Amino acid sequence: MTITIVGSGYVGLTTAVWLATLGHKVYCVDNNQDKVSKIQKGEAPFYEPGLDELLKKVLKRGLLSATDNLEESVLFSDITIIAVGTPTTNGKIDLTAIKVATKAIAKVLRKTNKYHVVVVKSTVLPGVTGETVKTILEKYSRKAVGEFGLCMNPEFMREGKALEDTLNPDRLVIGQIDEKSGSEFAKIYKKVVTPKIFTNLWTAEMIKYTANALLATLISFSNEIARISETTGKIDAVDVWKGVHLDKRLSPQVGKTRIRPGVLGYIFSGIGFGGSCFPKDIKALVNYADEIGVEASLIKSVIEINKTQPYRAIKFLKDVLGKDLNNKKIAILGLTFKADTDDIRESPALVIIDRLLGEGARVSCHDPRAYKEGFPRELKNPQVVLAQSIQEAIRNADAVVLVTDWNEYKKLKPKYFKENMKLPVVIDGRRIYDKDVFTNAGVIYKGIGL
Ligand code: NAD
Repeated sequence: MTITIVGSGYVGLTTAVWLATLGHKVYCVDNNQDKVSKIQKGEAPFYEPGLDELLKKVLKRGLLSATDNLEESVLFSDITIIAVGTPTTNGKIDLTAIKVATKAIAKVLRKTNKYHVVVVKSTVLPGVTGETVKTILEKYSRKAVGEFGLCMNPEFMREGKALEDTLNPDRLVIGQIDEKSGSEFAKIYKKVVTPKIFTNLWTAEMIKYTANALLATLISFSNEIARISETTGKIDAVDVWKGVHLDKRLSPQVGKTRIRPGVLGYIFSGIGFGGSCFPKDIKALVNYADEIGVEASLIKSVIEINKTQPYRAIKFLKDVLGKDLNNKKIAILGLTFKADTDDIRESPALVIIDRLLGEGARVSCHDPRAYKEGFPRELKNPQVVLAQSIQEAIRNADAVVLVTDWNEYKKLKPKYFKENMKLPVVIDGRRIYDKDVFTNAGVIYKGIGL
């Protein structure tokens, strides 16, 4: 089949490459010409392990092309998938990009008599596809649903593992406005062996928000347990999680092996969640609940806990260095919201850096991916030094705050911190180091949950 994907970000491009490997002809449409040029050269405009290699392969086979010409692409396609951003502005979902893309698609539908299915893959609140998107499509195409199809197909891939998740989906959720829309759209997934859930548009939209809210809730719950553990001074939350994870309902025994499901990674204390999905999606969900008269108090607490979690690092710094951080050199290891991505949107590192600068500290950062191509726009303050090596970042520092669990950082030994820093103070926001090894080696070691 021939498919247009509007938006060539993490979701759009990864999906495009996957659909091309399934043998479809895919047009990647983006209104950012730089991104289009990069994709045409076989370079993903963001870092995602393995993506460049696969992109080059499908380009070579002529199965994928990138363009800013939406009209021509949609006209030649059977299906158009919308994968543009849906940020949250002032707690509310911002549908500007969705509306612009939908209007442009609708104007093309007006010109063709071919049955065409429009699919929303962006994360949108219940009602957006069946009301907002449908209304725009009908208005500008001058057609009614039935003459074209409409589906909602939420995306569950994780940044850093986008390719792995997309090539091996754990489920496909297909929200459909009518049966014909769903069955026509599902043809693109004919070769994919995984459970397929056909449901209405509203439920498909809600499945995505529920999945994200559940994982965010587990993280904030784990961080609340960390705070209780820290405050007693006698409990290490890492050992608490070891004890909890071994519950056979969480780590099932299969033969002689204990399975360690991925969800355990969310039932663990850390510096807080960030990224382009959890923070914005759960804020939008709370707002939506408010609007329909539901008090989402649990999810509101999840947001509150997460808002203050990065400040635990500041508290630890003050416990060791004293209340006055003025002119102290603090090294931040890791800017991205998690390892294996270059995405620093809503990263806890940004919250910590902002507070440190406000307290007069000097901040020096390192990240293996976040700023290969200049100053990240999310990092507003140019006062921050972006070091080119870990050593440059921590040299003569009064303390290190480890924010992201990059593999590079996991390998660092206590000796390395002692030799390079003014004071060997390590605040471990991800608990990647062995507290006994670090403490016995003379490092002043503090960690979340400790
Ligand atoms: P992104 O910001 O990386 O990419 C969006 C792309 O859309 C950009 O390249 C932008 O230039 C392009 N765009 C915007 N308006 C356009 C228009 N009118 N025409 C053509 N191109 C346009 O976003 P993303 O991270 O890929 O997320 C896309 C959607 O998927 C969001 O709703 C997000 O919540 C959801 N989602 C993201 C992830 C993730 O891990 N990033 C996972 C699941 C779902």
